[in-house]
Amino acid sequence: MHTDILICGAGAAGLTLAIDLARRNVDFILIDQVSEPFGGSRGKGIQSRTLEIFEALDMADRMIAAGGRYPSQRHYAADGSYRDEVSVAATAATPSEPYGEPLMLPQHLTEGILRERLAELGHTPHYGHALLGFEQDGGGVTAHVSSSEGKIAIRARYLVGADGGRSFVRKTLGVDFPGESLGARAVVADLTLSGLTREVWHRWGKGTGQISLCPLQGTTLFQLQMPIPLEGEFDLSDASISAAITDRTGCDGIEVHAVHWRSDYAMSARLATRYRVGRAFLAGDAAHVHPPTGGQGLNTSVQDAWNLGWKLAAVLRGADDALLDTYEEERREVAAEMLGMSTRLLDAARERGDLRRGREQQQLDLGYPASSLSLDERGDDALLRAGYRAPDAPMRGAGGQPCRLFSLLKSGDWIMLRYEASGSPAFTPRRGLRIITIGEHAALRDHQGHLRTAYGLTPGDIALLRPDGYLAALTHDEHSPALAAYIEQSVR
Ligand SMILES: Cc1cc2nc3c(=O)[nH]c(=O)nc-3n(C[C@H](O)[C@H](O)[C@H](O)COP(=O)(O)OP(=O)(O)OC[C@H]3O[C@@H](n4cnc5c(N)ncnc54)[C@H](O)[C@@H]3O)c2cc1C
Repeated sequence: MHTDILICGAGAAGLTLAIDLARRNVDFILIDQVSEPFGGSRGKGIQSRTLEIFEALDMADRMIAAGGRYPSQRHYAADGSYRDEVSVAATAATPSEPYGEPLMLPQHLTEGILRERLAELGHTPHYGHALLGFEQDGGGVTAHVSSSEGKIAIRARYLVGADGGRSFVRKTLGVDFPGESLGARAVVADLTLSGLTREVWHRWGKGTGQISLCPLQGTTLFQLQMPIPLEGEFDLSDASISAAITDRTGCDGIEVHAVHWRSDYAMSARLATRYRVGRAFLAGDAAHVHPPTGGQGLNTSVQDAWNLGWKLAAVLRGADDALLDTYEEERREVAAEMLGMSTRLLDAARERGDLRRGREQQQLDLGYPASSLSLDERGDDALLRAGYRAPDAPMRGAGGQPCRLFSLLKSGDWIMLRYEASGSPAFTPRRGLRIITIGEHAALRDHQGHLRTAYGLTPGDIALLRPDGYLAALTHDEHSPALAAYIEQSVR
């Protein structure tokens, strides 16, 4: 069997990468060792930046319809009194940031929508296919995979290990995974119960006696989370979970009807030393693990895939292989910072039971200004720098119809914005590059000035947007040799 890309692991990272490759008509095979999709809630928070990516992949709307808002947290005192507190900082949507708050959607529902979108693009994951080994040479990777028909060999030009925290691909590549165990272990379970309102996220206790029951939007379930001793077997039976709820909440009135999924896990913070070895890449939890505080894991995994997909497609179409090195350059630094932030939030949760989330967790300010892919020819004091996330902006088309900058990003192309530029463009459109002039009589009209405000543009400015919605280049000189070289090298 031959393919261009073999993706090992059909979790959030592998599915997102598959969707991006499918819409780019890249040939790939997506395998997962489990016989059927995972069914638990785990990562239930979809951050604002991830929603923007899901919009570009035509899935945000259905996710929002399937999930809901984060409720307030209700902190109970020992005497049964309580105080309510906002759990996530919600800001109103703005023209440049259309998703002002994170969405709560249990991970199994998120992954279900990812699979649905993948099916619309003509693909399904191959379940019951475990990667057993692989070797690589100058031309590709030969993977050995078990399936119901026995062992098969798959020859691919590239392999992506999106195979979770215990990544077989990472271990086979011999990539180190340094970090630390955080001395915390917890149970997570999805259950149906009566005796609690679904209006709020209920929390009791402090330190190792904590317990929380969060109504899972889009379901009739509650997600239980509670710390447990680091060592020894923990009884995960229905009876034991019910008893722990009564014991830690001090309420007799909560009745557990069924436990649908349960798991216990020890928390650690680890980061792979490399994201690329030759023709093999690591994405998602395979490259970084950290505590769930902050709700970053699934989101960071999706954004790894989002960063890698267009680069793989471009290199398969003839872009310089060095483009693939920028994946590790850009994404490893983001993960390193996220590990620190999640660990700080874990400390706050352990000490004070404080789980509030704010702007930093929404991932809207993440970007790649230091990346070798960022070309900035405007002054240092410019509002936006190359490498920053490209903001949205409502505009109007030449015919007066409403449109948004983000709708242009759905094409997966590079977008060159010529702001009130006069004369003909210095470049001609080519496969993968759209050139759009913005002006009173041009293809797009910034009639309310949202684009100008968000990008800090002055007449004649050129903004080149990457296929993943970050600013590639900013210049005032459309004939800049550096811009021409950039486009020649990267745009495919
Ligand atoms: C309690 C809890 C709460 C969390 N809360 C949040 C949250 O609010 N927000 C958030 O963003 N994240 C959260 N996370 C983290 C999130 O669940 C993970 O970061 C996310 O699942 C990572 O996705 P992934 O695709 O990288 O890996 P995974 O989801 O682990 O998928 C890896 C896949 O690879 C497959 N696989 C493994 N080995 C092989 C092999 N050899 N051959 C074939 N297939 C293989 C596995 O079967 C699996 O399906 C939470 C996690 C936990 C435990």
